[in-house]
Amino acid sequence: MTQIKSALATVRDTLIEGVALVAVSKTKPVELLQEAYEAGQRDFGENKVQEMALKAEAMPKDIRWHMIGHVQTNKIKYMASFVHLVHGVDREKVLKELDKQAKKANRTINCLLQVHIAQEETKFGWSVDELEAVLPNLSAYSNVKVCGLMGMASNTSDKEQVRNEFLGLQSLFNTHAEAQRWDTLSIGMSGDYSIAMACGATHVRIGSAIFGARNYTP
Ligand SMILES: *Cc1c(COP(=O)(O)O)cnc(C)c1O
Repeated sequence: MTQIKSALATVRDTLIEGVALVAVSKTKPVELLQEAYEAGQRDFGENKVQEMALKAEAMPKDIRWHMIGHVQTNKIKYMASFVHLVHGVDREKVLKELDKQAKKANRTINCLLQVHIAQEETKFGWSVDELEAVLPNLSAYSNVKVCGLMGMASNTSDKEQVRNEFLGLQSLFNTHAEAQRWDTLSIGMSGDYSIAMACGATHVRIGSAIFGARNYTP
């Protein structure tokens, strides 16, 4: 068994039944994605639109592609025809452009609203107040389906803090899920997905635990 196949098997063994695994393959070459594909993986996450589009061209067509990164509106047209779920919608301008490009592609695009739950300033996402202010506007975007929420916890070893951040998001999710018909809560990465699953994650986004550490060349 290759390293990726065994790492994938190890991660799968620790997932709660029913939780979807998005294999985060950003910066990794298609050969490695192919190995995960051969081990049955069908959901892949990328954080750059053009990289995702190139990989989608090269890989089998039954893959579900997840855009997990910050979305630039001028790149939406490159993924509108095929993206399965856009996790990081953090401003209304993105909803507007997703709707426009989805109409052109003659489809509905599924997305999640990203909520700012971390202490850090750098993470993207709506505050709770901003999110609740945008909910009444969603029906205007007829070719966009908001399926739920996404969040990233603080990058800290303090597990209690991470848990509290996830619990806050779960509570917000539960407040609106029925009225909004939400079924997706995307929380949890390699370092914190066990906590996320205990806080109601339906999707976990796992990269380095499957594909190994990423090298960012400057
Ligand atoms: C990179 C990334 C992940 C995966 O991170 P790992 O720590 O490698 O599992 C998950 N979510 C988002 C939004 C990311 O950018």
